[in-house]
Order: sequence, then C-alpha cells, then structure tokens
Amino acid sequence: MQNNKEDIARAGKILRGGGLVAIPTETVYGLAANALDGLAVAKIFKAKGRPQDNPLIVHISHIDQWDALVSDIPERARALAQAYWPGPLTIILPKSGIIHDEVSAGLDTVAVRFPSMRTTRKIIDAAGVPLAAPSANLSGSPSPTCARHTMDDMRGRIDAVLDGGECNFGVESTVVTLATPVPRLLRPGAVTPEELREVLGELEIDDAVMGQLKEGVKAASPGMKYKHYSPKAEITIVKGTLDQFVRYISGTGERENTFALCFDGEEEKIPLRCVTYGRQDDPLTQSHRLFTALRELDEQGAVKVFARCPSTDGVGMAVYNRLLRAAGFSVTDA
Ligand code: AMP
Ligand code: MG
Repeated sequence: MQNNKEDIARAGKILRGGGLVAIPTETVYGLAANALDGLAVAKIFKAKGRPQDNPLIVHISHIDQWDALVSDIPERARALAQAYWPGPLTIILPKSGIIHDEVSAGLDTVAVRFPSMRTTRKIIDAAGVPLAAPSANLSGSPSPTCARHTMDDMRGRIDAVLDGGECNFGVESTVVTLATPVPRLLRPGAVTPEELREVLGELEIDDAVMGQLKEGVKAASPGMKYKHYSPKAEITIVKGTLDQFVRYISGTGERENTFALCFDGEEEKIPLRCVTYGRQDDPLTQSHRLFTALRELDEQGAVKVFARCPSTDGVGMAVYNRLLRAAGFSVTDA
C-alpha cells in the first residue's frame, strides 16, 4: 500500500478488524495490530516468531490516549513526554486494566510511544485505536528500515505493508522505565541519556545496555537479552583506530567471503570487500544506515565480518548497542 489517504484508510480498516499491517515510523518499520485486541496482538508473535516473554510497545497518536493505558501518569512522566513526544522515546509505567497480558507479556507494566512521523500518526488515527507494534522483522534478524526489507521478512505472513519510504533514525526508540524508584534506561535510542537526565535529573543505565547480562540475571527489558538484529554472517567488532583495524585484519589471514563493515570513505584503505554504515563522526548517519548495511552483508554473501567500532557517545550508544547484539557480543581490541 502507498502513503496516500485511501491506503491509510484501508490500513486503518484492516487494523480495526483485527488484522496485521506493517507501518513506517521515524525509528524502524513496525508490525502493528489493535493493542486492545488480545487475539490480534497474538498474531504479531506468530508472524514474527517472537518469544512470548518479549512485551510490545503501544503506539498512540494523541497524548490523551495515554491515560487509559496506564494506572497513573506521575509528574516526571508528564515532563518527559512534554520534552520528547512526539518522538523516538518509549516510556514504561504500571499498566491499566485494559492492557492484555499478550501486550505486556505478563508484566504489570506497559511501554507507550507517541511517534513523530506524520504517516504513523495518521494510520493510528485511521485505526481509531492504539497500536501495539514491535519491529516488523522476523525475530532475531535486523529491524527493517524500508518497505522492501519489511516485505522480505513478512511476505505471506501479514495483511499489508504501507510504504512510507526510508525510516529517518533507523534504530528503535529509546526505552526508559519510570516504574522503578529511579528512572532506568533499558534501551538506548535517538533520545540520549544526557537528554533524559536534563528532564529527569537522575537516570540509571541498565547493565544490558552496554554489555551482556550474566547467566541467571533477570532482564528488565526482555528484548535486550537475545542475540538480535543479526545477519547470517558472523560479526566481530574490532576496537581501535583505522590503522590498527587494517593491521588487525591483515593478520587474520581470512579472505574469501570476509567483509569489513566500516565508515564512509574508509574502503580504499581496507583490503577486504566493504559495506559502509555512515560517517565515523556522525552517529545519526550510522543509525540511519546500520540495519540496511547488515542486510547488505547477507545479500552479498558475507560469512565473516570485521566491524569498525562506533563511538558510544550520545546517539552512538544506540548504534553500539545494536551492533554489539548483531555481533553476538563478540568484541576484540586491535
Ligand atoms: P521492539 O518493539 O521489537 O522494538 O521491542 C520492544 C522493546 O521494548 C523490547 O526490548 C522489549 O523488551 C521492551 N519492552 C516493551 N515493553 C516493556 C515492558 N513493559 N517492560 C520492559 N521492557 C519492555
Ligand atoms: Mg524488535
């Protein structure tokens, strides 16, 4: 379906009727269903092959819709919404009675986001209900950032894809929980920890954000515990300068179907086939490109990939977090 009035109305009708539609947002494509219909939501898990213990984000198109979804909206939540909604920020609070266990995966909290992309909001309006929507990829593979990638994963599994062009940010929303005594960042995204602290004052960073949870530790955000976002190729993140990177890969001896995932303009210096993911000094170009680059590696038949390590400052934390999971936590120092 195209991004026009008629198709948006059709998408709304399918969603209201309990169907599944993949929709564009400013972060990644989402696989949407009526958030208040437990049967419709259950179809999302089936289509994605998503683990049942991984809760969904509920998307709204007007701030007033928030009240019915949560038991209470404390002052600091209002302040966060005021500062960063509509936008790529998801806020977790204790849930109200209308949230089915399918949506919250049995937790007593619910994650809510008010997206900034106008097309997304028009689709929610057309549906007339809040939409539960995880990323529209098959579970475990990189999130889709355009309609073609969405169709590659979802063909035959859902009712429609609405093509809204390429996603602006390209990685999923920042997830912060306010259901804990101290606000806690569960997933980094385009809204940075610094920006959250400006409003909240205090913010803890969950251990799962920058590393791997230890065996037996319960994940605050179930989605962060999985190897994730990953292409078929085996990725190793190589820390260090470009020169150190080049020296390191020269020492590995692997060549056939070995690729470099590097920054724009570095291809000439690297003696491997290269796929680029943005400018070294610009995390927003990296977030925009990362998931597409991971899919390109698969399309080009990469078996082994050495990746340049992004800076973890600001939006870079989100880029590093996704790349780390794509690499199955494999990091080495050059
Ligand atoms: P996705 O929609 O595919 O981007 O995944 C949603 C992310 O938000 C996953 O990492 C979930 O684990 C997380 N999430 C959603 N709802 C909650 C919740 N109530 N508590 C903690 N994490 C949540
Ligand atoms: Mg996802």
